[in-house]
Amino acid sequence: MPRKIDIEALCAEKGLRITEQRRIIARVLSDAEDHPDVEKLHERSSAIDPGISIATVYRTVRLFEEAGILERHDFGDGRARYEAAPEAHHDHLIDVETGNVIEFVDPELEQLQRQIAEKLGFRLVDHRMELYGVAFDRKN
Ligand SMILES: [Zn+2]
Repeated sequence: MPRKIDIEALCAEKGLRITEQRRIIARVLSDAEDHPDVEKLHERSSAIDPGISIATVYRTVRLFEEAGILERHDFGDGRARYEAAPEAHHDHLIDVETGNVIEFVDPELEQLQRQIAEKLGFRLVDHRMELYGVAFDRKN
C-alpha cells in the first residue's frame, strides 16, 4: 500500500475552497485503503457528519477528480471507484467475487509495456492494467 496521501493539503495546494463537509470527505478518502465507490464514501462520511448527502459526495469526488487529486477507476462492475492519485504507479488485480482490489507493481510488466509501445512507434507515457481473477483457495 502506498503511503497515505493528504487530500486536504492537496486541495489547499490547488486552491480548492474547502468546506467542512469537503474536509470530512477528503479525510475519509485519505484514510481509505480499498478504492471505495461513492456509496461507501457516503456511508463513512455521513457516519462522521450525518448532514453529508450522497449528492455532496458525488459533487466533491467530481471536483477532486477534475483537480487531479483523485483517480477514478472502473473495475468492470459499473461502479466508479476512487483513490487518491498515487505518487508512485501501481496496477490492480480485482477479485471478481468480492470486489477486493489488490495493488501490485511488476518491473517486468512495466518493461514489456514500454517495449510494446516502442514497437508500435510510441514512447509510453501512461497505462492502466487491470487483472480480474477468482481466488484459487476460496473456501465455500
Ligand atoms: Zn490503487
